[in-house]
Amino acid sequence: MTAFAVVNPATEEVVEHVELLGVDQADAAIARAHAALPAWRAVAPADRARLLRRFADAVDADLEHLARLEVANAGHTIGNARWEAGNVRDVLHYYAATPERLFGRQIPVAGGVDITFAEPLGVVGVIVPWNFPMPIAAWGFAPALATGNTVVLKPAELTPLTALRLAELARQAGVPEDVFQVLPGAGAVVGERFVTHPLVRKVVFTGSTEVGKQVMAGCADQVKRVTLELGGKNANIVFADADLAKAAATAPYAVFDNAGQDCCARSRILVQRTAYDEFMALFEQAVKGVVVGDPGDEATEMGPLVSAAHRDRVASYVDGAPVACRGHAPDGPGFWFPPTVLGPVPADHRAVTDEVFGPVVAVLPFDDEAEAVRMANDTEYGLAGSIWTRDIGRALRVARGVEAGNLSVNSHSSVRHSTPFGGFKQSGLGRELGPDAVAAFTETKNVFIDTQE
Ligand code: NAD
Repeated sequence: MTAFAVVNPATEEVVEHVELLGVDQADAAIARAHAALPAWRAVAPADRARLLRRFADAVDADLEHLARLEVANAGHTIGNARWEAGNVRDVLHYYAATPERLFGRQIPVAGGVDITFAEPLGVVGVIVPWNFPMPIAAWGFAPALATGNTVVLKPAELTPLTALRLAELARQAGVPEDVFQVLPGAGAVVGERFVTHPLVRKVVFTGSTEVGKQVMAGCADQVKRVTLELGGKNANIVFADADLAKAAATAPYAVFDNAGQDCCARSRILVQRTAYDEFMALFEQAVKGVVVGDPGDEATEMGPLVSAAHRDRVASYVDGAPVACRGHAPDGPGFWFPPTVLGPVPADHRAVTDEVFGPVVAVLPFDDEAEAVRMANDTEYGLAGSIWTRDIGRALRVARGVEAGNLSVNSHSSVRHSTPFGGFKQSGLGRELGPDAVAAFTETKNVFIDTQE
């Protein structure tokens, strides 16, 4: 076992040391999760629902503590961190309705009765990135537990603290031992073991497209079920007929929220050429107004990047690129990077093609609707996007034309616990959240009963 120093990204101080598990410990935890399956599946639906509601209530009672933990561990603003802990509570409440509604079907057939059951898969391995440690964990563990699976969850090395706290809260709420275990560890050790261990029947992976492809290839060996939530290079499309003041005022938050470390960040702004200058003037003003600083301060709108290494990576996209304008960032300790607007940038610049995952946005002009859709789709990713226009017909045409899983019109909302979330193309495989996610945690079993004499 090795100890990992968890660092506060706003101060560079060590918050805590967390033991990283080795392969043997991961194997032992997976064996315990497997042993816990029969009893967990046998919990009556109403009782499993009640346990999940109690877990949600425990999260709610601990919300401020969880939020402060995330501020210290990940540098999230306190406002965001509260939302994130609240999202865990809401996702648990939402899927607490599942055990009593996990319906099969009765299908008309000759000679008997045909019914289907939604059976749990077994042990589910959830692998979580560092950018939204709490919500992304819950999107995996809540529907998995609700459908009768047991869960082993690996947080990102950088951000294990809230996941460890959530496991404590689950136990306090009465979720039986070994049903939900959090296993801090390296991706190449514990994460990889979820992929190769035959008793882990499904992997839910959120992270980079590069590692996601390895996970998918590894899962193929055992035909292991897999859900992938990967990167994004999302377009915010602003037509000249839009409410430009609102589009410009909200655009910074659509990309700089969570310091741009968001797979749904609208890191390409496509603006109709006839409105380009007016939009840019308003946008620059809004960018300069973004409050960057101590993430624990109620007024702060953007905190630091998660690590020094990540800040260097983000900076590499800006080196030598044309900067149209920049916001502010504190000096001194902390992994700070100011909100940065690039433009005019050629369409093949790596800040336009790659997922920067930091507070950097490229603004590009377009001439007409067809060109806007073509530019939005000119990426291997397909996760999210926004469309700003007052023409509802155009909004729907463009929404249907953009190859992405989560689009919003005249807003930048991507995530609601009750609606499906996931990516087209190389942004992922499968959907989380919403009414259909439970199907990804169950197998359909068909049973025919002969009723003939
Ligand atoms: P990452 O791929 O490096 O790591 C993600 C997780 O996978 C971590 O827990 C890591 O330890 C683990 N891991 C690393 N190597 C592994 C391996 N060989 N086998 C199994 N697990 C392994 O990504 P990151 O840098 O932590 O997160 C940033 C990325 O996550 C971005 O690309 C972002 O777009 C993506 N992301 C996607 C979504 C979405 O829902 N689509 C949401 C958030 C983040």
